[in-house]
Amino acid sequence: MKLTNVIMQARYWAILPAAGSGSRFGAETPKQYLTLLDKTVMQHSVDRICQLPIQACVLALNRHDQIAKTLNFAHPALLHWVTGGAERMDSVLAAMQYLQPHAHQDDWVLVHDVARPCILSSDLQLLLDSLSHDAVGGLLAVPVRDTLKRGQAGEVVETVPRDHLWQCQTPQMFRFGLLLQALQQAKARQQQVTDEAGAIEQLGLPVKLVSGSSTNIKITYPEDLGLAEAILKSQISRPQV
Ligand code: C5P
Repeated sequence: MKLTNVIMQARYWAILPAAGSGSRFGAETPKQYLTLLDKTVMQHSVDRICQLPIQACVLALNRHDQIAKTLNFAHPALLHWVTGGAERMDSVLAAMQYLQPHAHQDDWVLVHDVARPCILSSDLQLLLDSLSHDAVGGLLAVPVRDTLKRGQAGEVVETVPRDHLWQCQTPQMFRFGLLLQALQQAKARQQQVTDEAGAIEQLGLPVKLVSGSSTNIKITYPEDLGLAEAILKSQISRPQV
């Protein structure tokens, strides 16, 4: 009964790691500052996350970043800034530590890649609804649809069965206290985790998969920009619930 009360009152916090150098993208301008339709990748991502009933949204920025704070956002009062770290998990941890004095253990924290500007509000709502009574949390993901091969030196080594394989996206949403503990433990043990779920898995806790949309792409290579623009255009012409 007590736990139910706590869960009912849980609040939401958002973190957008945006401190990556974008080395795979290879452009001079970091990919989050490239323009898609009317605004930057970062503005799209932040504005969509800020439509949620969150207490605050923390952006983890590269220490040399001089652009983020000059941009216009739809909900500026929700935004806070921290300096990120060498790896994605360091950036998320810095934002978690910033929120620690304000967040309760059972609050929810949503971590969303700044490079995923096409996230649908219907998928965000699905994530919140699917996990609302969960004790740990989970993430948006899509089942792998292509045949997978392991390769070496340009040759196929083997076919990897794709049954039960999922491509992980963000937001990833976990109870604040658990994610903080998981990231601190991973850091202390020098385990590199590439997403929040990876850190929670190291604690031996169950992570829920919530089936999202394949349009929630992460802009990684230059050709992804055109794809993201086409997705945004189709979302505007056919608004989804
Ligand atoms: O490089 P990749 O696209 O996988 O990065 C995923 C997200 O993590 C991006 O939003 C990126 O800015 C962020 N990141 C970060 N700090 C790092 C590395 C990546 O905030 N040191």
